[in-house]
Amino acid sequence: MIYLDHNATTPVDPAVADKMCAFLREHFGNPSSLYPIGRKVKEILNEAREHVAASLGAARGEIFFTGSGTEADNFAIFGTVEAAPERDELIVSAIEHPAVLESARSLERRGLKVTYLPVDGYGTVELDALRDALTPRTALVSVMTASNEIGTIQPIERIAAIAHEKGVPVHTDAVQAFGKIGVDVRRLGVDLLTISAHKIYGPKGVGALYVRRGTNLVPFLHGGHQERNLRAGTENTAGIVGFGEAVRVLEERGRKDIPRIEKLAEALKKGIEERIPKVRFNGHPTNRVRSTVNFAFPGLEAEAILLSLATKDICVSTGSACSEESEEVSHVLTAIGLRPEIARSSIRMSLGRTNTEEDVAVVLRELPEIIEKLRKISAFDPKD
Ligand code: PLP
Repeated sequence: MIYLDHNATTPVDPAVADKMCAFLREHFGNPSSLYPIGRKVKEILNEAREHVAASLGAARGEIFFTGSGTEADNFAIFGTVEAAPERDELIVSAIEHPAVLESARSLERRGLKVTYLPVDGYGTVELDALRDALTPRTALVSVMTASNEIGTIQPIERIAAIAHEKGVPVHTDAVQAFGKIGVDVRRLGVDLLTISAHKIYGPKGVGALYVRRGTNLVPFLHGGHQERNLRAGTENTAGIVGFGEAVRVLEERGRKDIPRIEKLAEALKKGIEERIPKVRFNGHPTNRVRSTVNFAFPGLEAEAILLSLATKDICVSTGSACSEESEEVSHVLTAIGLRPEIARSSIRMSLGRTNTEEDVAVVLRELPEIIEKLRKISAFDPKD
């Protein structure tokens, strides 16, 4: 199998699986319990917290584990909006992941004024639109660090500076950036930042929210006193241990891995452009997470391409993992100005640790044939 969908999820690293299995066998204590087996688990969770914090340039006390990246996004948005009842406006970008976008829509239905910032043709947020939208009533600005669909990297440092000038806190969903580009909370200057373990070769069902010390935030989940009273619910202890280990592995091999993966992705992008007529590359040519390669193949339905590739054991995606089953046109591709039929012809290939030069060679052999065959069936004339 050739897996080209690392933005949807990644295989669990063997070191992570080993660490989680050993933990599950040896430790069942509740980290909130005061006797030794509980204390021990708390200590182990704090080691994981330390790893996660260090990799983000944060302090250990600024990391709050959650049940997913989605929960961390919800926590950041609902938690800041509720903490500032005198502010009734929210700003998000138009190309956010549904975890942010649907949270914003939910608040909009409750009467909040939400501004969806437009992006340019490469998917970069327009800063003038941000300046225009900010008011003293803005509770939060939330813009993702990098797009899950097209990889475009946002100017988060500038966004944070612009928002902070008006006294508005900033959240960034760094789920797709973490582990692929440097993510340092102090350099970015954000108040809140989301990450998720299963995008960095860790387990599913665990995420984290960085909360800068002093940020005004109320709990999103209500219940016990876990996570220093901010995130109720007994911790996913094995998941957190796996998250910590995934981050440790990332630190150990990331610097070697990333240039190799980016080189493969560049070869794939170049090969597609050279071998297949009339393709359209979606996303920023340089300022993006390079492992994400999104192309439109005008005249075709992306699903037909995806299914043809699947018969060759090549896994790609037609958009974000969450929209796979919906008929809707990608809101991200629409926001960068694609016509619906072009958006519907787009597939995303996202490379990762599992990929090799041989994988790229196979895709560059199979994909042009598939496109040619499908275009013949659909009577598409590339000279048109
Ligand atoms: N944010 C982005 C940008 C994502 O790509 C994803 C996952 O696809 C999420 C949030 C949600 O993370 P999780 O799957 O951990 O809920």
